[in-house]
Amino acid sequence: MRTVRAVAELRAALAPARRERVAIGLVPTMGALHEGHLALIRRAREQCDLVVVSVFVNPAQFNERSDLERYPRRESDDAALAAAAGAELLFAPPVEEVYPAGFATAVEVIGITDRLEGATRGSGHFRGVTTVVTKLLCMAMPDIAYFGQKDAQQTVVVRRLVQDLNLPVRIEVCPTVREADGLAMSSRNALLDPDQRSRARSLFDALEAARGLAARGERSSEALVDAALQTLGSFGVDPDYVALVDPETLEPLEQLAGRALLAIAARIGDVRLIDNTILEPTPASTSSQKALQGEAIATCNA
Ligand code: AMP
Repeated sequence: MRTVRAVAELRAALAPARRERVAIGLVPTMGALHEGHLALIRRAREQCDLVVVSVFVNPAQFNERSDLERYPRRESDDAALAAAAGAELLFAPPVEEVYPAGFATAVEVIGITDRLEGATRGSGHFRGVTTVVTKLLCMAMPDIAYFGQKDAQQTVVVRRLVQDLNLPVRIEVCPTVREADGLAMSSRNALLDPDQRSRARSLFDALEAARGLAARGERSSEALVDAALQTLGSFGVDPDYVALVDPETLEPLEQLAGRALLAIAARIGDVRLIDNTILEPTPASTSSQKALQGEAIATCNA
């Protein structure tokens, strides 16, 4: 696998594939690769002839300087892991390559970026994400780009961006990959100390508490959110938000009447983690059966 750092080098490396019209897959990441990223790369490997992984810790999407500074960086490990998962090219540009002197453009998705992560991290966060994703798509011009459900709002925002700007790329979203106790894999997990790590499972447990309640027939958003809050509270975790929202518009929901996104963000110590799950209402007649299934899922993930 080759590592390239300049956009011109990336384009030159992709030119033969483009001439031969083979499918190019792009997996955008900020590095410190883990199984969540590798699942995206493997999916890309299955669906595309050539897989590019980008590793770029994008300063524009960080709202806290300390978070940017201590974000884990392990490029040589990343190269080996990406290659083993089937990537041909690692694109690891320096900041000046992505944001050269005089850079003055931003790409912004309006509305859905104000909610959840946008409300907590500020409008600059998603502007940073959408600007860099647009740039990466223009740089690599992939046929398919791969994103993780772990960042649920990001997937909604990126789909909107691609649709609104008529970008010629298909967006694939892959399921969240979790640790044995349910904690969603994240590069930031490496920053947790042992006590914080044991409390970090509270996000998944909170999602499962709400799922269990929904499976028993509960439809009130307030009750479902409350179940999640109580679980977080039992771990001493005070979240930035727990919200039940429409999975497309991200508008808050009063009732669980169809597919809904339950999203959580919380700080464990000074490490900010996010997680989410999709809930669906259970028809009353099958609620007890589904409740048992919900518990079985929880046991498998425990
Ligand atoms: P990041 O490096 O955190 O910016 O993530 C790069 C991509 O990997 C994003 O599309 C994430 O949603 C995805 N990703 C991160 N963690 C996971 C996970 N645990 N499971 C699935 N996808 C993930």
